[in-house]
Amino acid sequence: MAKKDYYEVLGVDRSADEKDIKRAYRRLAQKYHPDRNPDDDSAAEKFREVSDAYEVLSDQQKRAAYDQFGHAGVDGQAGGGGGFGGGAGAGGFSDIFGDVFGDIFGGAGGRRGPGGAMRGSDLRYNLEIELEEAVAGTNVDIRVPRLVECDRCHGDSAEPGTSKHTCATCNGMGQVRMQQGFFAVQQTCPTCHGQGETVDTPCRKCHGEGRVQESRTLSVKIPAGVDTGDRIRLNGEGEAGVNGGPAGDLYVQVAIKAHAIFERDGRDLYCEVPINFVDATLGGELEVPTLDGRVKLRIPTETQTGKLFRLRGKGVKPVRGGAPGDLMCKVVLETPVNLNEEQKELLRRFQQSLDDTGTRHSPRKSNWFDGVKKFFDDMRP
Ligand SMILES: [Zn+2]
Ligand SMILES: [Zn+2]
Repeated sequence: MAKKDYYEVLGVDRSADEKDIKRAYRRLAQKYHPDRNPDDDSAAEKFREVSDAYEVLSDQQKRAAYDQFGHAGVDGQAGGGGGFGGGAGAGGFSDIFGDVFGDIFGGAGGRRGPGGAMRGSDLRYNLEIELEEAVAGTNVDIRVPRLVECDRCHGDSAEPGTSKHTCATCNGMGQVRMQQGFFAVQQTCPTCHGQGETVDTPCRKCHGEGRVQESRTLSVKIPAGVDTGDRIRLNGEGEAGVNGGPAGDLYVQVAIKAHAIFERDGRDLYCEVPINFVDATLGGELEVPTLDGRVKLRIPTETQTGKLFRLRGKGVKPVRGGAPGDLMCKVVLETPVNLNEEQKELLRRFQQSLDDTGTRHSPRKSNWFDGVKKFFDDMRP
């Protein structure tokens, strides 16, 4: 999908100043905020566009890049288009988005900048949480193994006190020209790997890598309402950059464990509630579980198995705002077990009395038999 012009999205002039942009953003964000437009997908989409546009235009550097190169200049900085700006909270929580962009991960290294500086790789951490934690929000400590700048050489690769020399192979260019048949090909220098310098004595701690493996414990704030597939970006918590390049980001990919009682579908929850056939027949009150405790559910008379009862607002409040969903309770009729002779006899007499009255007592069964009869009639040549 082609992205809209950020200035158009905010309805401001290209020469708008910071104040104009902020004012436009505030007006539109309030108008399209999911809390004010529950269940309105187009408002949610507008809200995202507005947030994306503001994230870029409110940042001088990003705005300059956007003015010069358009969306290509800021993609990746704004979270690849799915960024959810605003409301950044504690614990380095920066944004959250449900989109899947696989291209961020598994890429070879980072982006090379001037002077051989390279942005560190983005990392992904798969986090499994309980449904209750996802609904209420939580803080989780995660241990992330990653490459960090070596504290002995500070990323320099050379043992402290020793020197570096201009690479003899490439004369410090970092690139060499190779003749291949008729063509001259520019290649990264195999001796210095593009650094332009060689190290006489590699750093003892990192063996000249400039980075070392380290495990760090990070506290991640999980906002209430997250769902499987949501990702939380921790700015600069990915791998250290090379040659002074910035660190990559860490993406915490959320997955929710299966729950003993509830199944989740977006903002709605589903559960099954067993019911005995007497309650189902005569009607009554059932206790059903919700995430905030038990509630009573009135069951009308002649309730059939599989009937769904909706408990409004007992679902999940979505992470991007909006009204909470519903809890759908499916009643499942249970056949009594372990009956003694007397109880069995009572049932036989009960069935006999149903048969004797001649009234229709099994709505589904009669329809079903009619259906079966028609099926066989139709088959007859
Ligand atoms: Zn080192
Ligand atoms: Zn070289």
